[in-house]
Amino acid sequence: MIDLHTHSTASDGSDPPERIPELAAAAGCQAVALTDHDRLQGVGAAQKRAAEVGVELVPGCELSLEARGTMHLLVYFVEPGPGPLQDSLIRLQQARTERNQRLAARLAELGLPITYGEMVVEAGGDGVGRPHMAAILVRKGIVNSIQEAFDVWLAKGKPAYLDKERLQPADALALAKASGGVSVLAHPMSLEQPPDQLERTVAELAGLGLAGLEAVYGRYDPDQRSELSSLAGRHGLVVTGGSDYHGSYKPDLSVGTGRGDLHVPDSVLDALRQRIA
Ligand code: AMP
Ligand code: FE
Ligand code: FE
Ligand code: ZN
Repeated sequence: MIDLHTHSTASDGSDPPERIPELAAAAGCQAVALTDHDRLQGVGAAQKRAAEVGVELVPGCELSLEARGTMHLLVYFVEPGPGPLQDSLIRLQQARTERNQRLAARLAELGLPITYGEMVVEAGGDGVGRPHMAAILVRKGIVNSIQEAFDVWLAKGKPAYLDKERLQPADALALAKASGGVSVLAHPMSLEQPPDQLERTVAELAGLGLAGLEAVYGRYDPDQRSELSSLAGRHGLVVTGGSDYHGSYKPDLSVGTGRGDLHVPDSVLDALRQRIA
């Protein structure tokens, strides 16, 4: 069993990177990918601990792409250091910091007392994301849950939503390939596209070098997983899966097992590795 989608304190997870392989080992995983938003900074610490607990740590990251719905790309096998995708990540991180500072100002305008400094403390350093703002709103008694914070304030279209810089799908796929990476479309349902449109989007991404589709996603039901697996098959894509573990920011999800019904076979990792260009 493996888990190809997890977050640490390097982005918007609540556990430090070295905890991810520990949790994977405890769950009985042979391998786990660390896929923080826009960041590879957790990979080194996670790899070191993974070697100690006898789990393979797959380096990765998750990118938000320019598209009509929410389009996230998981990129695997890209190590921290210099490189085409790595350099773009640095720029995305700078843009994220600027967005977060503007978001702090917007929240203040809306009468929500959250400073940028508080976000950084909540995040444990860099890698601030909206879940950190949501957690602060919960702690201050302004909302009752992280989900409510999104539903009322932070989700796309809500009063405190501010867009962030995103790569174009074609650029992200090319950068990932140039850095020796393999790309997978994360949680495809979040594109919120009707079936015929999703079919065309996936065909287009496959033509641009997409290698896999995250059909076996922590929060998807059996019907969704099997529909997406068929979709992947029609476009020659690897059927992948992962929990999207974020620790206390998504308390329903565990590493390896998701909500208890996740099981991604080891063979998926071998299939992805064969797609390295
Ligand atoms: P950011 O990268 O700062 O824009 O935050 C994106 C993260 O916020 C996602 O990876 C999720 O963890 C979380 N998120 C985004 N939209 C929602 C939503 N509607 N409900 C709950 N969490 C969300
Ligand atoms: Fe996240
Ligand atoms: Fe995502
Ligand atoms: Zn994720």
